[in-house]
Amino acid sequence: MPSQAAHPHFARRFLPPVFAVLLGSPLNGQPDLTQVMVRVVPVATSVYMLEGAGGNIGLSVGNDDPFLIDDQYAPLTAKIKAAVATVTAKPVRFVLNTHWHSDHTGGNEAMAGSGAIIAAHENVRRRMSKEQFLAAFNIRTPASPPAALPVITFSDTISFYVNGDTLYTFHVRNAHTDGDAIILFRKANVVHMGDTFFNGFYPFIDVSTGGSLSGMLSAANEALAMTNSGTRFIPGHGPLATRADLARYRDMLATVQQRVSRLVRQRRTLKQVLEAKPLADLDGQWGKGFLKAEQFLSIVYESLNQGTRLRR
Ligand SMILES: [Zn+2]
Repeated sequence: MPSQAAHPHFARRFLPPVFAVLLGSPLNGQPDLTQVMVRVVPVATSVYMLEGAGGNIGLSVGNDDPFLIDDQYAPLTAKIKAAVATVTAKPVRFVLNTHWHSDHTGGNEAMAGSGAIIAAHENVRRRMSKEQFLAAFNIRTPASPPAALPVITFSDTISFYVNGDTLYTFHVRNAHTDGDAIILFRKANVVHMGDTFFNGFYPFIDVSTGGSLSGMLSAANEALAMTNSGTRFIPGHGPLATRADLARYRDMLATVQQRVSRLVRQRRTLKQVLEAKPLADLDGQWGKGFLKAEQFLSIVYESLNQGTRLRR
């Protein structure tokens, strides 16, 4: 999720707490990241997860140079490099972005400046090249500087053969955005899901840049189909996960789709759907994180309603 200035009124009403923290005062719109610590979580031999602020980072180390998946916010680059330095003396050689949001790509310019090669799905480069608008949060993200743009792009799949492993990277269509990548570490048996997976809470789905609930569900199903009970999952947000965590999340998304689709087919308005509280029994477990229950339901409604309009 990005960190640009939001309209103050909208920010007060709709920004979830995580956003509010990252944005600092809605009036200046600048995130205060000075207090953020970057923590290194071991995932498997030669694979780590870095937690700071913004999307979880994946790190592959070994005989070759370090390979990073996402790089959070620009002001955290020094802390991220310091965290990498606790497990390897080598500088970061590659950065793969899971999607365009600035809490996953904010460090690109600095990482490229110190020699890293940036790769991503082609829609990530396309979106970062121009101003983007997130309707759900009324946030404008300006075009990224040319040095921050991915220099290698792919459309369907790409593999990286580094550190004794194969990082099989594939695009999932219209999930969290229109440029999501999921990365399977074949040998380490680890998957980085990007923001197709929020572990333990309702996900943000960026409908305004091509995301959809059905795509989120397909992404989770695809990742489940190619893994086993020993696989560890790095979610875009939330703690390191097991396959059972991902399965619970997938089941939640499926239930949400089934219930809200029925209301959309009945041509209910957003107001009517919110009043019907179709997710009341799920909100206690899933609605305490990134998005509040009503925000999530509004986004789901928009996604499913859009799908219905396209089919009509
Ligand atoms: Zn995101």
